[in-house]
Amino acid sequence: MISIPFNKPYLTGKEAHYMYDAVYTGKLSGNGKYTQKCQKWFIQKYGFGKCLLTTSCTDALEMAAILLDIQPGDEVILPSYTFVSTANAFVLRGAKLVFADSRIDHPGIDESSLEALITPKTKVIVPVHYAGVACDMDVIMEVANKHNLFVIEDAAQAIDSYYTGKDGEKRALGSIGHLAAFSFHETKNIISGEGGMLVVNDERFKERAEIIWEKGTNRSAFFRGEVNKYGWVDIGSSFLPSEVIAAFLWAQLENFEDIQSRRCKIWNEYDIILKEWSAKNGIHQPTIPKFASNNAHMYYLVCESLEQRTLLLQYLKENDVLAVFHYLSLHKSDFYQSKHDGRVLSQTERYSNNLLRLPLFYDLNKKGQLKVVQLLKECLSKKNVTNI
Ligand SMILES: *Cc1c(COP(=O)(O)O)cnc(C)c1O
Repeated sequence: MISIPFNKPYLTGKEAHYMYDAVYTGKLSGNGKYTQKCQKWFIQKYGFGKCLLTTSCTDALEMAAILLDIQPGDEVILPSYTFVSTANAFVLRGAKLVFADSRIDHPGIDESSLEALITPKTKVIVPVHYAGVACDMDVIMEVANKHNLFVIEDAAQAIDSYYTGKDGEKRALGSIGHLAAFSFHETKNIISGEGGMLVVNDERFKERAEIIWEKGTNRSAFFRGEVNKYGWVDIGSSFLPSEVIAAFLWAQLENFEDIQSRRCKIWNEYDIILKEWSAKNGIHQPTIPKFASNNAHMYYLVCESLEQRTLLLQYLKENDVLAVFHYLSLHKSDFYQSKHDGRVLSQTERYSNNLLRLPLFYDLNKKGQLKVVQLLKECLSKKNVTNI
């Protein structure tokens, strides 16, 4: 019997070659040839401002919070349905989190709820492009501009996804907010084990971002010959990855189109073969709003109830298929619930209880995928039989 994991990291075959090259050319620390190649690739392909590779998306978010000078008492609006790093980055600087609910049709932030959450202390809005599907960025940027707020896109899952605005222009996610953070964790589309990237679209932050990246020094400017010595000029940390990691990432970027088209094929297959079954069982398939594109980061289902989800997850597991649920609401977490203002976030709860993610990775073959689908169908029809 074939067993199917939830995720299996895909290797293009060139990773070890480039890592070997990085090692034996003797440039092991950060910001060398491979780092530059990767950063340039993103700028050229997506029209991002400055790109800085980091050791994780978590680090990129922490850099963003430092860059925006988040101070104790500042308020940050973010969805409750997200990964802890979206929140931690700001809590580390003493900020207060104000959680927004998700959309009814999609786990992304409910943009219509934002205006009511803004106070004189609000400093930043952090939309998370869940499953790589865009939040409604026109509305979010309008609200932010009106109230003089910054926008940091948590684009951890959003590589190669787009937003089409009211002006009809299609923009890459990560190019719209003042800042954006990407992840190359092994569970994402493009990987380097652990890895991430900060995108700086706003001119005002470009120089300082580089300083924070390099431990609070102006070392990058020194290497470019812009200053004749380098020293301590600001706060910072060691956010840049070694060349070995950047070399790994470069191999992935070279095979980018292949990886994306394979993932999209699997995603579309799921979507087609589960259509009738989902509708019949009160299960929602992913909605891609008109303004968004799909980067096939994730195939998820929103079940009718927690019981139904548990039943499906268990049945798949008993049959060697690992499907998984996703975020637990941050506003109900052990760490933050006592600090949350008590508002009920019903859509967040719904996704926490009912959302189920199916295996989706490059090497998932047709046979494997059909097994997943077969088990889903079998599980609910068995239940119906026992009910009769
Ligand atoms: C994966 C992920 C992160 C964290 O990325 P790391 O690179 O593991 O630090 C943050 N936010 C979201 C929405 C994610 O999916």
